[in-house]
Amino acid sequence: MKITFLGTSHGVPAEDRYCQSMLIETQNGGYIIDAGAPVMDCLLRIGYDLKKLKAVFITHMHSDHVYYLFSLLTLASWYYKEMDFDVYVPEQAAIDGITHFLGVVSSSFPNDRVRLRLIEGCDVYQDEELKVTAFPTEHMGASKRPAYGYLLEAEGKKLYISGDLNGQKIDYQEFVNEEGVDTFVVECAHFPAEKLIDKLRDCKAKRVMPVHVFPVEKYDVLREAEKELPFEMEYPNDGDCFEI
Ligand SMILES: [Zn+2]
Repeated sequence: MKITFLGTSHGVPAEDRYCQSMLIETQNGGYIIDAGAPVMDCLLRIGYDLKKLKAVFITHMHSDHVYYLFSLLTLASWYYKEMDFDVYVPEQAAIDGITHFLGVVSSSFPNDRVRLRLIEGCDVYQDEELKVTAFPTEHMGASKRPAYGYLLEAEGKKLYISGDLNGQKIDYQEFVNEEGVDTFVVECAHFPAEKLIDKLRDCKAKRVMPVHVFPVEKYDVLREAEKELPFEMEYPNDGDCFEI
């Protein structure tokens, strides 16, 4: 399993970073987590075989995680007709809104190659190679709306992507600390970096990758603390690719 960071910025894009989006690749499949970066443009630039894209998973319906879902779905609908994939979103309102908007801007939507699906329960997705499990966070708890982190399991490896978290609780799943995963991608915008470091002290992940870091001075705090943390740290930039 391989992860390519298409966008690593926090709520707004930066000079050298798009907002959040990741491409996960198994041997035969491709999967997008969040669409805050111009996903289609990014896939074309890295020469990705668009036919391989099997599914898109949205962590929550904040704009910096879905800006570019619209262009991806529109282009897949009217132009890149070899594409055929499912899009998992956390709210029915998202399905209704996207369907309405795309129906206005594209005569090719809806169609049966690009399917919007509502996340219901933890077991979101499974194919021959990859299993995806959703775990709720209280990132949008104040407005009583759902938000998720995703566990991706393939080729005997585990990748956990925190999604956006609750600023008070840093409510990523306890199994990341207790049992560990191969790679843990964690946001660092909604709480002090020191608080995240405290929570990570006993973390059994083999490697931790902070993204969505705001303000950027937090990178210095994280880098300083990494010497005393019991795992490898990586700080992905847009375009970086890692084997899980
Ligand atoms: Zn958010």
